[in-house]
Amino acid sequence: AVVTRFAPSPTGFLHIGNARTGLFSWLYARHNGGKALLRIEDTDKARSTSEAIDVIFDGLSWLGLEFDNEPVFQSERADRHAQVVQKLLDAGKAYKCFATAEELAQMREEQRAAKKPLRYDGRWRDRDPSEAPEGAPFTVRIKTPERGETVIEDAVQGRVKVNNSEIDDFILLRADGTPTYMLAVVVDDVDMGVTHIIRGDDHLNNAFRQLQIIHAMQGIEDGWEDPTYAHIPLIHGNDGAKLSKRHGALGVDAYRDELGILPEALFNYLLRLGWGHGDKEEFTREEAIALFDLEGVGRSPSRFDLKKLSNLNGHYIREADDARLAKLVAERIGEKADIDLLTEAMPVMKTRARNIIELADGAAFLFKERPLEITEKAANLLDEEARERLAVISARLKGETDWTMEALEANLKQHSEDLGLGLGKLAQPLRAALTGQTTSPGIFDVLVLLGKEESLARIDDAQA
Ligand code: GLU
Repeated sequence: AVVTRFAPSPTGFLHIGNARTGLFSWLYARHNGGKALLRIEDTDKARSTSEAIDVIFDGLSWLGLEFDNEPVFQSERADRHAQVVQKLLDAGKAYKCFATAEELAQMREEQRAAKKPLRYDGRWRDRDPSEAPEGAPFTVRIKTPERGETVIEDAVQGRVKVNNSEIDDFILLRADGTPTYMLAVVVDDVDMGVTHIIRGDDHLNNAFRQLQIIHAMQGIEDGWEDPTYAHIPLIHGNDGAKLSKRHGALGVDAYRDELGILPEALFNYLLRLGWGHGDKEEFTREEAIALFDLEGVGRSPSRFDLKKLSNLNGHYIREADDARLAKLVAERIGEKADIDLLTEAMPVMKTRARNIIELADGAAFLFKERPLEITEKAANLLDEEARERLAVISARLKGETDWTMEALEANLKQHSEDLGLGLGKLAQPLRAALTGQTTSPGIFDVLVLLGKEESLARIDDAQA
């Protein structure tokens, strides 16, 4: 059975590149009826605050990615990591290295001068530990093969290999007894029964090293099989450079809170960032699960395009349920918001909005206190002449008994014809008076949403 894992490090953000990795891992497991596991790589104590960890949980659950395990915390597994190192030591597949920091710095200095690759030269590989001074600190290093090559049949990258001579005897356990990242990842993956490692291709080089640990443990313990790797090309910005904040790359929570993105829009956008299925542009969650595969993951970096995400979000807003949107908008507007009125307003409001913030801005006029604050642009529309016209309109509307779109439209159209003026000439100052702005939904929608009493009061305020 397929078991995947998503293994984010708490950095304070759930970066969208990481979220995409999580999405792909989750989808691959769901597609294959397997398990999607979550592991928090929290060995960096300073960064791994509970807030930073909650940001990850929060972002994943907002995206609708529920995992099948109680999350594993890497920091709690240090004893097991050390146990594996002990087994490798006992089997002669790892050794203690007593080289001091100064000594290693000098080694690198010499390698640099000789223009050789900088790598540990194996100076303690065949030495007897008893040659070290009594009680001297040591690291534990893996004994990697000196000849041959390590081959990975990567499900995305294809066949990739390195000469084993290029892989040095890297550290498994630091001098203070703590496990290195390289070791912890491998031990955790094996213990969690992970069969498919789907992650960014910035980890491809690590995979060659991680496999050395797996191979060394084969024959010592059961369960150390080579996993299937799928290294996904990273996301780049529109200019082709590695994605950064400058390109609009934010944490998942910022897409929700600062950009007003809906989770289904981000889900779809991330899905198609590096994966495709023919020309199909839009996927429900069920379709994504049914169709996701690793063959559809491209080999070149995908480009992040905030505009595309924004347009896609507009599409999902138009499809979204009005009561749900009203609730999201109300959260932004605050206490004054009236959910029923917002729900009623959504069909006209959502035709143009690309995000929840635009919706909230567009709906704000509904809840303004009288007398309205009026923007400078709107105030310019309310000159002497306009105010006289508003007085006439106000009188007409007072007599209107049928406060519906149709009746109001007929009423004002008749008036504009009587005056020989375009409807726009009347609608502009009316809009300024009713909303305090120069943009709003259609003027008849505005009148209906505000209701007769409030509309007339605002029109009269504008003449005062
Ligand atoms: N914790 C690593 C990261 O956030 C991922 C490790 C892995 O997937 O193997 O980049």
